[in-house]
This record gives sequence, structure tokens and C-alpha cells, in this order.
Amino acid sequence: MTKYPLLAVPLVALLLSAQMVMGQSPRFRTLVFYSTTVEGDHVQFAKDALAFFSSIAVKDQFEFIETRNWADLNESNLKKYQLVVWLNDSPRNPEQRLAFQRYMEGGGAWLAFHASGYNDENTGWPWFVEFLGGAVFSINSWPPLPAKLVIDERTHPVTANLPDSYVAPQNEWYLWKPSPRLNSHVRVLVTLDPTNYPLGLKDVVLAGDCPVVWTNLKYKMVYMNMGHGGEILANSTQNRLIENTVLWLGTGATRAGDAEAVGTRISPQAVVANPKTNKVYAVNSGEGTLSVVSGVSHAAKKMKVGRNPSTIAINPVTNRVYVANAEDGTVSVVDGNLDRVITTVQVGALPYVVAVNSTSDKVYVSRTFSDTTTVIDGATNQVRILDTGVQATAIVSNAEVNKTYMINQDDTVTVLDGSADSSSKIHAGNRAWGLAVNPVNHKIYIGDTLGSTLRIVDGKSGSVHSVQVGEIPCAIAVDSGSNRAYVANYVSNSVTVLDGANDAVLATIPVGVHPQAIAADTEKHTIYVANTGSHSVSVISGKSNSVLGTVNVGSGPYAVAASNSLAYVKCLGLEGLLAIDPHTLAVNAVVPTLNPQ
Ligand code: ZN
Repeated sequence: MTKYPLLAVPLVALLLSAQMVMGQSPRFRTLVFYSTTVEGDHVQFAKDALAFFSSIAVKDQFEFIETRNWADLNESNLKKYQLVVWLNDSPRNPEQRLAFQRYMEGGGAWLAFHASGYNDENTGWPWFVEFLGGAVFSINSWPPLPAKLVIDERTHPVTANLPDSYVAPQNEWYLWKPSPRLNSHVRVLVTLDPTNYPLGLKDVVLAGDCPVVWTNLKYKMVYMNMGHGGEILANSTQNRLIENTVLWLGTGATRAGDAEAVGTRISPQAVVANPKTNKVYAVNSGEGTLSVVSGVSHAAKKMKVGRNPSTIAINPVTNRVYVANAEDGTVSVVDGNLDRVITTVQVGALPYVVAVNSTSDKVYVSRTFSDTTTVIDGATNQVRILDTGVQATAIVSNAEVNKTYMINQDDTVTVLDGSADSSSKIHAGNRAWGLAVNPVNHKIYIGDTLGSTLRIVDGKSGSVHSVQVGEIPCAIAVDSGSNRAYVANYVSNSVTVLDGANDAVLATIPVGVHPQAIAADTEKHTIYVANTGSHSVSVISGKSNSVLGTVNVGSGPYAVAASNSLAYVKCLGLEGLLAIDPHTLAVNAVVPTLNPQ
């Protein structure tokens, strides 16, 4: 993860609060802890929160002291404060933990955001889990996205003057197991609205009860899940919620029967077509198999791969198919002629994105939580670790220019040269997610998830320029036959059509809710859009720039490929593959037979 430079202590805050104290005595004293050595997006939030706290401290007349020194969490120091705030971290030191426990058991108040409440089997602090209401971190949504939140308790001082619901700025949403709502001492104040589901482009919160703000009535405490990135304090409703909470805790302070929340990891490369052989490949994550649909006979079979296969890439030159198995840290290498796994390569934990440069015959594998990229030599299946310095969220190769492009979490794009193995970086994008190559003119399209900008990189010169599209352009498909690019806009629920030659916006086509995968049939010029939020696929005519029809697929589609004049779709919670006929708009389940190995 990227690290931001250490923050300068904002003297303004100290001066303002000191000044206020001199004028009149504060209503209460607050000690705010944060760290600058944590994930960059969490440091960014702390920086914004300190500015916010210093402004409300003046307005609401409380004293506010900030510290990065967790040793300040000691018994004698805590006696001076009515409220302790943790912005982005929690103590590791046993004495600090014990001092905090005594402070809370003695009637102190606590407000914490986001990663401050994070706990897992390695945290080793059982009291803290009980304090949070039994909640243990389970999975997070990724990348950060805005989400509709509903207010559970309209009578509580924290939420009394809030609307019934609001759309919170983009955040990494945590899901907890068990849900704190199951604890009879917990009152949940704000919850992720189920209409957000499925929420995430990679790590997806699928369904169930996902509290985001709650209090454990045994203590004077509030935990808030918000706190990832620089947008958290950009919403006046949410700011009011935070201010209310500070005042309630500083001056003062259950719904049952909901199902436990569940989540999963997905990839837009869960279904991939080989245009040379017309075969379509799809993962069946739960059963650890790969489906293969023949382009000639339309017959389908499946073969065993590793545990939790999630992503597929194809080398059309060697006709090998690479399947990343997330759970066992391997890549299955499939012979595309024989439809058989020929070897399994160890690549390290949690492989996520796979791409093949067919010119250099190299396979690039990025891994969740890893700052390195594993490179498989396609000829020998030997692996090598490339220290790319950051985790890649998307990789594409352009075989014609022998280059591979990786989107990094630090807003850079790494360009890997296939012949020399050298790399360079381009600064393009803000929390970039969508990535595609235009094979006609070697342009690279990069979609931001922090706005409505599409960056276009000239593959030859490396120069970058931007085009305005819809909000959160998260997936891009190129119709090389017509030289057009199609951009799925997650928040605007639309597809932007770009002329590949001059980058002009030709049309904006409304589609379903939260489109997050897109594919183009480069022969028929039909575009398929997976509307994950409304469980449908929009079929667009590239000739008329209009929607030919919207097909209900019953569950959130998250990956789509076009082949043999059909669309093939993977949906959340469905092991199989669906085929959509764009003419009749009929949906058929693809039922494969198991291929003996
Ligand atoms: Zn986070």
C-alpha cells in the first residue's frame, strides 16, 4: 500500500482550541488519536477529519487535542478527557490497551472510525471484540464506492435530525461476522441499504445485514465504518451525523432477525472468449471447475481446476488458457486444444488479475494484498517475482506493441516492456479501475472510480489526455471492428460511446442499475452491459447507439463475454453460465458435462 508523507501537525487546530479555552471553558475535552504509518487512504481521512474536528470544536465549544503518540493512551493522561477518538488505528501495546479498557469501564467515551475497529484472529484483544458488540471483521467491499445508508434509529440523539436515508460518499465498507446487531446490548444506528447489493467491483458485499454505525449500550461508545479516502467529509448529512455523535458522546449516551451479511470476490475476467477458436471459458468458483463452451457445436464441458477459480486469461498464439485459483494460490494452465489442465503453477496467495502478453509469451499475475507481480514464462511455466512496488487492480497486454499495462493502487500505470522486461510509469487516473486497449491504434483507456474522467494514453508516445464520461467509469470495452470504445458508468447508469479515432463522445446510452462489466461483439457490433444492480443485461446496437433490449438474468451479472453472436454471462451466486441471444433476448443456462482428466 502507498504511504503518504508524514503530516505536519496542524497548528491552527491547537491555536483555535486553545483560544476557545481562554475565552470560556470548554464543554468537554477530546483527545484524537491517529497514525500516519497506515494505509494512505486512511491517512488521508485522518487529515480531513482533523480539519473537520478543529472547525466543529470552535463552533460547538469543545477542546480538541490531536496526537499520533499512542503512548498518550495512559491512565493519568486519559483522566483529562471526556472523549477519546480513534481516526484510523488502534493500540497494539498491552498497557495502552489496558489503560483504554479501564478508561471505558470507568465511564469514558469513545468514537472510532473505519480501520480503528478492524480486528481479526491476529489482533489478540478479546476484550475489544466484546466492546465492539462481538463484531469481527469479515470482508470489505472494494474498490471504495458510494452507498445508500438507512437510518435505523430516528429517536437517538445521533440520528434525530437526519433524513431516513442518504447516499454516503465513497468508502470501503466493512462487513462483520457476527453482525453486532445480534448482540442484545447493541443499538445499530445506521445500516447499509440492501438496495446497494451487490456492492463492489472486486470484493463484493452480496446480501444481508451490514450495520455501519452502532453503539454498545454497555459503554459510552460509537463505531462508524466510514473513514477510507478523501471524500468522507464531503457530505453534509454525514458530517452532521459525525458532529451529532461527538456532541452526544462528549456531553452525554435494536433491531433483530436480520440475516448475517455475506460477501465474495469477483472478477470481470470470470468469463473470457478466445476469438481465434471461438471457445468461451467461465469459472465455477464454488465447485472449482472451468466451463468450456465450443464455438462450433455449442457443446459445453467442464474440468477440475484449483479452489475458488476467479480469473481467466488466454494466449491465442499458444492456445493456452490460464485460470487463477484464488484460494490455493495457483494458476491452472489449460491446453485449449485438448481442453485439459496440463500443469498447475504456484503463484502465491490470492491471485487476482491475470493477463498474457502473447508476443513475449509471459503471463502476469497480480495478487490481493501483494505489492509484487508473479510472471509465468509461458514456454517453461517457470515463475519469477517482479517487484512492481504496488498491487495491480487491472492488467492488459497489447501484444502488437509487446507491452503490458498495470493499474496500480497508487494512481500510476506501470508499463512493462515484453522484450526487455523493463518497466516505466505513467501518472494516469485517480483510483483507476477500468482498463482496456484499443488494438486499432494502441490507445489505452483508463477509467477513474473517483469521478467521471476517462484517461486515454497514447500507446506509442505515452502522452495522456482526458475525456469526460459518466460518473465512476469502471469498465471499458473496445469494438475493434468499428473502432469505438464503450464505457460503463457505475453511478450514472449509462454507457458512453467514444469514437476510437478522435476520442469524441458519440452518444450516452442509459442502461440498468450499476453497470460494472461490458463486452463488445466486434463482428456484429453488439455491446452487452452487465447491470449488476438491476440483475439485467442491456443489449446495445453499436450501429444505432440504442438499447435493443434488456434481459433479466435473475441475479447480479458481474462478467460478460461476447462470442459466436451470443453473450455469455456470469452472475453472483450462480455456479453456471448463461447464454443470451441478442435477437430473441432469450436466456439459456449452459449445462456442461464433466471432462474426465
Ligand atoms: Zn480502508
